[in-house]
Amino acid sequence: SLEQGPEGPETPIQVVLRVRPMSAAELRRGEQSALHCSGIRTLQVSPPGGGPDVAFRFGAVLDGARTQEEVFRACGVRRLGELALRGFSCTVFTFGQTGSGKTYTLTGPPPQGEGVPVPQGLAGIMQRTFAWLIDRIQHLGTPVTLRASYLEIYNEQVQDLLSLGSPRPLAVRWNKTRGFYVEQLRVVEFESLEALMELLQMGLSRRRSSAHTLNQASSRSHALFTVYISHLTAQQMPPVEPGEPPGGGKLCFVDLAGSEKVAVTGSRGTLMLEANSINRSLLALGHCISLLLDPHRKQSHIPFRDSKLTKLLADSLGGRGVTLMVACVSPSAQCLPETLNTLRYANRAQ
Ligand code: ADP
Ligand code: MG
Repeated sequence: SLEQGPEGPETPIQVVLRVRPMSAAELRRGEQSALHCSGIRTLQVSPPGGGPDVAFRFGAVLDGARTQEEVFRACGVRRLGELALRGFSCTVFTFGQTGSGKTYTLTGPPPQGEGVPVPQGLAGIMQRTFAWLIDRIQHLGTPVTLRASYLEIYNEQVQDLLSLGSPRPLAVRWNKTRGFYVEQLRVVEFESLEALMELLQMGLSRRRSSAHTLNQASSRSHALFTVYISHLTAQQMPPVEPGEPPGGGKLCFVDLAGSEKVAVTGSRGTLMLEANSINRSLLALGHCISLLLDPHRKQSHIPFRDSKLTKLLADSLGGRGVTLMVACVSPSAQCLPETLNTLRYANRAQ
C-alpha cells in the first residue's frame, strides 16, 4: 500500500514521482493530459498525436488527486527521520521543471500574505516531517539537541537565508572530521516545533523577496534546509567553528533549481546532462548520481567537489546517507518534452 513508502531493495536513491493537477491556466488553454497513473507504481505516457504509450516505473507514482498528507506517507519520510535520529545523513530533494510543483511538495502553496501560515491540510513534506520529528523526540525521552540552517545556492554562491545581518556570499570549506560545511553559516538551536516553523518561514519569505526572485530567476536557485540532530546535550558537544555542522544525524530538504534545459542522453549508468545554460550544481548532481549508481565504476572517486550543491550533499549521497528524490511533473501534453527529460533523469537515478 502507499503507507509502506517506496518499494524495493536498499537502493542508494529512492525515487517517487508526483504528477500535479492541471493548473487553471492549462485548463483554460484547453491543454490535454499526456499522463496517467496505471497502478501505484506505474506511469503511462501517451505521446500527443498517437504513437505507442511509454511506461515508467517508480517507487511510487502519485497523481494529481493525491493530498499532501498522502504524498508525505507515500514518500516514507518518517523512515528517513528514524535514520537521521540514528546518526545518518538523509536528504529529500525535489526535481523537475519550473512550475511542476517542487516548492508546493516541500512547503505547500505560497502564503496568502506576510505572516499568514499555510493551511495545515496544504502543508508540505517539510512541515509534516518537522511535526513528526518533534513529536517523536518528545516520546524518546532522551536528551536531543536540535539545530537548523537554511541556505540558498544561486550562481554558485551560497547565501544564508537565516543570517541576522545583510546576507553576503559564504565560503564552503572542508575539514577531516566534519566534511564539507559552510563557513559562518548561522546554525540555530531550537527546541519547539513553533521555533522550527519560524525558521522555515523566515527563510521562505527571504527567498521570495530576494533580488533574483524579482529578476524571475528564482527557478535557478537551490534552497537547502538542514536539521541537525545530536544526542549530546549542548554542554557535551565539542566546540565547533561558526557554521561548522555539529555532527550527528542530519535531515536535509532541497528545493532544486528548475530542471528545464537539462537534456538526458546516454545509456544506463552514463547519465549525461547536456546543457549550455543549466546551472553547474544541477549538472554536477546528475553526474555524481550516475557515477554512484554505476555498478562498473572503479570505486571511490565521485566528483563531489565539482559544485557547491554536491559538496554539501556529499555525505548523504556518498557516505552514511539515504536519499529520496521526488520528481515533479505537469500532466499537460504541452510540457511533455520537459516531462520526458524529468522522467528519464528520475528513472536513471533509481
Ligand atoms: P516549482 O517550485 O516546481 O516551480 P510550484 O511548487 O511553485 O512549482 O508550483 C507551481 C504552481 O502550481 C503553484 O501555484 C503551486 O501552488 C501549484 N501547485 C503545484 N503542485 C500542486 C498540487 N499538487 N496541487 C495544487 N496546486 C499545485
Ligand atoms: Mg519553486
